[in-house]
Amino acid sequence: MDFENNYRMTIDGALVDGAGHFEVVNPATGEAFTKAPAADAAQLDQAVEAAARAQKLWRQVPIEERKALLRQAAKKIEAHADELGALFMREQGRPLAMAREEILGGAGWFKATAGLDIPVEVTEDTKHRRVEVHHEPLGVVCGIVPWNFPFLLATWKIAPALLAGNTVVLKPSPFTPLCALKLGELLIDVFPKGVLNIISGGDELGPLMTAHPGFQKISFTGSTATGKRVMESAAKDLKRITLELGGNDAAIVLPDVDVDEVAMQLFMGAFWNTAQICVATKRLYIHEDIYDALRDKLHQLAKTIPVGEGTKDGMVIGPVQNAPQFRRVHELIDDARKNGLTILEGGPVPDQGYFIPLTLVDNPPDDARVVVEEAFGPVLPLLKFSTIDEVVERANDTVYGLAGAVWSKDIEKAIEIAHRLETGTVWINQNLQSTPFTPLAGHKQSGFGVENGVAGLLEFTVPKAIFIPKSA
Ligand code: NAD
Repeated sequence: MDFENNYRMTIDGALVDGAGHFEVVNPATGEAFTKAPAADAAQLDQAVEAAARAQKLWRQVPIEERKALLRQAAKKIEAHADELGALFMREQGRPLAMAREEILGGAGWFKATAGLDIPVEVTEDTKHRRVEVHHEPLGVVCGIVPWNFPFLLATWKIAPALLAGNTVVLKPSPFTPLCALKLGELLIDVFPKGVLNIISGGDELGPLMTAHPGFQKISFTGSTATGKRVMESAAKDLKRITLELGGNDAAIVLPDVDVDEVAMQLFMGAFWNTAQICVATKRLYIHEDIYDALRDKLHQLAKTIPVGEGTKDGMVIGPVQNAPQFRRVHELIDDARKNGLTILEGGPVPDQGYFIPLTLVDNPPDDARVVVEEAFGPVLPLLKFSTIDEVVERANDTVYGLAGAVWSKDIEKAIEIAHRLETGTVWINQNLQSTPFTPLAGHKQSGFGVENGVAGLLEFTVPKAIFIPKSA
């Protein structure tokens, strides 16, 4: 299998060229390095029809067999982790070792999902009757994923949707289509034809998919703005939806932490993957007693953590993934500068591609754009606080509610604060953790529904209650 060239879509068990094509850019150079296929409306129809045909049989395949195929998929991915990792680095920008980790993470997700069971709930069991609630597949699932974790997030949709007996048409982001296309090719012999279809395209393909009457469910990960459009489009025929959207996560650092011990973890919680993580720390609240010491330590890290092309040894942080995002992060930094805020700039970065120095903003006001908006790039506001009531209120003062973190030696106190944060996840003395067994739930405008765990699996199903009489 050629991982360097020849990217084709998987439709109905066949590899298919696009009706058109579009260029894929390496963010480390800013140069296009290959082309990806662009599906037109007719090819979307073919994929949806193939998935609908396949679903009639797939839903009848015993769940243990479906699980076995998910495990087989995991093995195939693992066997090609090196090639996929190298391709990932080229299209997404993340340094090689960490790119490969995402591929293995995707394999792990297939494996772990195969370990989940779809529960049958018994809501009544008397001498007269038994009432069982089963969970049936929905039909054909539309998966749409962004560019920040283009491989892992695809597996978060594919694995549970297939396990539950649905078939899938998945669309990667036009900025990072290649690994998903190769995944389709890799798994072409694993699943029966039509069960997993991967199509790519430009900006017009997503809206065509969400409006397509052949889908019963849309599982979407992306920005809050697009999520709202998806919801509107799905409303026309009441498609089921799961939306995993943006965040503006707060991390709260209490004065009892050891600054030297936590600095690196806090830094990586904000800047790993070039800060392009939905659950990255995007507002860092530091108690006034340790503010100066921690700020200086973080600034030191910003100046020394290696940022560069992922092919070079020892690189930790890569470029921003695409040109629009590059412009947006610059806009936020420029806005902070224009408003006289103190910018603490990181070390030098390559002057090609979409590299931006790791940037801190020193205690901006709460209404600064860099505080209010989701940056999704390497600029982090550091915010000083005095009391717990004050910081909880400030942390919750946002339309987002994805995740948050509390850092303290006093775990009881941290748990108390965790309960007061209006987010779907709170980490104590850690960050960026998610597991295939734990639902990721965006509160407020960070999402609708959940992914992962049994709760996430059930979102790919519809309940059916069966009332069974018993002879007296
Ligand atoms: P985006 O919303 O621009 O695009 C996401 C996907 O939607 C892409 O595949 C895109 O082609 C497609 N799309 C664009 N317009 C569409 C439309 N009108 N209808 C249907 N599909 C459409 O997001 P992005 O810039 O690719 O990703 C960054 C955002 O994703 C950030 O806000 C980030 O926080 C969020 N995100 C959330 C999670 C989570 O789990 N909550 C995870 C990762 C990223």
